[in-house]
Amino acid sequence: MAGLSDIEWTDATWNPVSGCTIVSPGCTNCYAMRMAARLQAMGHGSYRGVTRKSGNRPVWTGKIILNERMLTAPLTWRKPRMIFVNSMSDLFQDGVPTEYIGSVWDVMEAAHWHIFQILTKRPDNMARILSEGDFPVLENVWLGTSVENSRYVPRIDDLRRAPASVRFISFEPLLGSVSGAVLKGIDWAIVGGESGPGARPMLVDWVDEIKIACDAADTAFFFKQWGGINKKKTGRTYRDRVWDEMPAALKVS
Ligand code: SF4
Repeated sequence: MAGLSDIEWTDATWNPVSGCTIVSPGCTNCYAMRMAARLQAMGHGSYRGVTRKSGNRPVWTGKIILNERMLTAPLTWRKPRMIFVNSMSDLFQDGVPTEYIGSVWDVMEAAHWHIFQILTKRPDNMARILSEGDFPVLENVWLGTSVENSRYVPRIDDLRRAPASVRFISFEPLLGSVSGAVLKGIDWAIVGGESGPGARPMLVDWVDEIKIACDAADTAFFFKQWGGINKKKTGRTYRDRVWDEMPAALKVS
């Protein structure tokens, strides 16, 4: 899967890896797991065996596929884009060889006219692998982690340890208060409620806490959606306006 995206904070997706495993409550209604099951059912080779049925719903099997044929796709996209890396997986999950991450890095370095947004729920792995290996800090590579409730606030410290030019947090799906989260050194925060079947609610108080933390740390604030069963209906207006702030470093050249 690679191509244009309707995710509000990016332009395109690029999936050099498929398959994943659940790591925290934010994964429970994982969109990628549902979509991977659909693609697998359609016979898409990049998703063969990555999900199985458990009751009525698909779950990951733990199989990871390295989509080497997809590796060079961004080099063929001449128009500069913001590219969400591994929207269907997690580049820093156990089982992805460091050499393969190195190949992803080589492509991102060569495709310098794009911005690459890497989002992981394993920022501890990310910080360790990038610090120990030969991974240059690239201006066009942004590193991020997801935080869904207070229990996962320590991921922000892990992210700060990862060598990066731009760091961002995805508070989506926001499932609880993250009161006390400090965003110093974080360039960008995305906030969103869960959407789709079984969506869990997001309270405005939780969003307020993040907005206050953003203001205190000079962190750009992007409000993606309220979510729910019908996300078009609930919309993306927070405190009477749409918030589409981007990191100060944004520069597509
Ligand atoms: S880490 Fe991401 S892709 Fe993997 S199961 Fe969790 S939400 Fe889905």
